[in-house]
Amino acid sequence: MNAPVLVINCGSSSIKYALIDPAPDAPRLAGLAERLGSADARLKGINSAGGSFSHALPNADHTQVLNAILNSLEGRIPGAIGHRIVHGGEKFTQAALIDSDVISAIKATAALAPLHNPANLAGISATQKIFPALPQVAVFDTAFHQTLPVKAYRYALPENLYAEHGIRRYGFHGTSHAFVSQRAAELSPRGAGGWLTAHLGNGCSTAAVWNNRSLDTSMGLTPLEGLVMGTRSGDVDPGLHAHLHRQLGWSLDKIDDVLNKQSGLLGLSGLTNDMREVEEAAEQGHARAMLALDVFCYRIAKSLAALSCALPTLDGVIFTGGIGENSPLVRSRVISLLPHFGFALDEASNDVMIRGKEGKLDRANHQGPEAWVIPTDEEGRIAMETRQCLEAQA
Ligand code: ADP
Repeated sequence: MNAPVLVINCGSSSIKYALIDPAPDAPRLAGLAERLGSADARLKGINSAGGSFSHALPNADHTQVLNAILNSLEGRIPGAIGHRIVHGGEKFTQAALIDSDVISAIKATAALAPLHNPANLAGISATQKIFPALPQVAVFDTAFHQTLPVKAYRYALPENLYAEHGIRRYGFHGTSHAFVSQRAAELSPRGAGGWLTAHLGNGCSTAAVWNNRSLDTSMGLTPLEGLVMGTRSGDVDPGLHAHLHRQLGWSLDKIDDVLNKQSGLLGLSGLTNDMREVEEAAEQGHARAMLALDVFCYRIAKSLAALSCALPTLDGVIFTGGIGENSPLVRSRVISLLPHFGFALDEASNDVMIRGKEGKLDRANHQGPEAWVIPTDEEGRIAMETRQCLEAQA
């Protein structure tokens, strides 16, 4: 298929899109509509000349926003739509051509992702109305991690919670971990060996990837498990929920809200969920921002060390996501917390690896495991999986 793929990432009040041509150097049209359904709804994007636009779309719903996106594609007609779907449960180990069975399966998994899957389904339903003739493919955030061995995905809970209710570790950010580990396999002479990947954005997760297969990851049943994130706590004592309920009388909704929206960098720093601002405040000696940075980096290093147990050999670590791609400080701190792994970071190379640059951070002639920055391309990966899925059907 030579036509571009329109990648859609549909949230409850936002839609991200990208029009991706098969030719790698073709200009990419991309944008984001936010605050859907409110008076402030707006579509912002970039055009093929690299300029930006912003249109007010007061009270627009998903269908109206998708129509506005269609009008912003400069007459380029997509040949297929690739939808990012957050949770595919155990049913989806790869991308799937959307039909009524796939829609029913995504609905059936909604209990595991009550905020995300219904919004993703709303996106599918709107695009089916607008593009009735185009094939649509679901690309799941969880699918890459379906290769986890059972010892990595089972919680030590009674069997029936897994067998009857699907309670297990699934993992997320699959398209990002898949993209950067595959890219490292192309770029490094070590090929597709054992890679630890650290996706550090507003959401953060690590993965252990062996031969292009995910063997463990830090997120679990939900995207709350694992690392410290912008507003999410990551791992806490599982006894915390009962404690907060019994001692403070907090409801489940309140506990959920605090752990997901008021914790992480925001909770620790008391200032912000944005790493740039945390770094600036820490630089000026703000004690809580310094603590937030310390806990954030320590927990990444601890997670990478733990996940290394999944790999037969360790060939390197890959940093990606807004923080992983742009924060020499976080990368340097994390590596310095793993002295026994034999990394050798060249601080000068590390310092210049920002704003979309891709490369290795090692000192010259270093023999140990490598350290890389690889900008993620989740949209590009979704477009590629969409094409592969359609070619497999043909
Ligand atoms: P999302 O997960 O929403 O896609 P991103 O991957 O864009 O988010 O990551 C957002 C995070 O990246 C924010 O915490 C932001 O502060 C951080 N970030 C972006 N640029 C820098 C920078 N130059 N230094 C440190 N952190 C940065």
